Amino acid sequence: MDKKIAIVTGGNSGLGYATAKKFCDNGIKTYVVGRTRERTENACAEIGEHAVPVIFDLTHLEQIPAMVNEIFKKEGHIDILVNNAGINMKKDFVDVTDADFEEVIRTNMFSVFSISREVVKKMKETGGGSIINISSMAAQYGLPKVIAYSASKTAIEGMTRAMAVELAPFGIRVNCIAPGFIKTKMTAKALDSDPERKNKVYSRTPMGKMGLPEDIADAAYFYALDEAKFVTGTVLPVDGGNSIGF
Ligand code: NDP
Repeated sequence: MDKKIAIVTGGNSGLGYATAKKFCDNGIKTYVVGRTRERTENACAEIGEHAVPVIFDLTHLEQIPAMVNEIFKKEGHIDILVNNAGINMKKDFVDVTDADFEEVIRTNMFSVFSISREVVKKMKETGGGSIINISSMAAQYGLPKVIAYSASKTAIEGMTRAMAVELAPFGIRVNCIAPGFIKTKMTAKALDSDPERKNKVYSRTPMGKMGLPEDIADAAYFYALDEAKFVTGTVLPVDGGNSIGF
């Protein structure tokens, strides 16, 4: 088989960008899925020759099979899938509408199921692969005002285990990364405007700092590689100890 082929959803910014860059820097041809044409094309241009933009809205579940088929037809194999695209919505519990709840679940959970199903069909044909899901501290402990997000990320960890056991006989490994508080433009802005929350994040993180998107990329790269060939069904907190902090 020639070079490895990866799909990274939400690869145009934040953790997904760092992951796509890590893969491409190490010779993995990476299809970067994002909704926004400009952001996705610019990200791929910055990352370099191994990055290929795919302008696609993952909430259009019915179009996912065609998108995956197109990549498979071109490459003949898909070896790695990183389910990273996600949205959050911070609202008081009673203000969350059914439509709000559905939007988050559709993006963070239904699309992960649909794209994984389609990629697994291809991985079964070619003898295996690695799927990497991204959950959150919201699946490790209770966070206020993010009910739909917490539901979706907790589901992701259960799906990881269910997929891992069913797909192991086909050479498909499924693992999950649970990022702690990672420095991105969005989180920096949110925490700078909320000193109390910022203090809480730092005080319960034994390492006393936020992580970097590259920390998540490094973990994803490990899971993607043959070095992790006996690792499946795991959830790896990459969080400076936040999930076990007192
Ligand atoms: P960003 O907001 O920086 O990026 C989200 C990405 O998802 C963008 O590339 C966006 O593309 C894409 N995306 C969102 N909706 C869709 C959709 N419907 N179809 C296709 N692409 C979509 O997020 P982060 O890097 O901060 O987070 C990435 C993942 O990590 C998420 O799953 C998040 O829940 C998780 N996470 C992040 C943490 C953090 O501290 N940052 C902590 C814990 C978990 P576009 O802009 O084109 O819409």
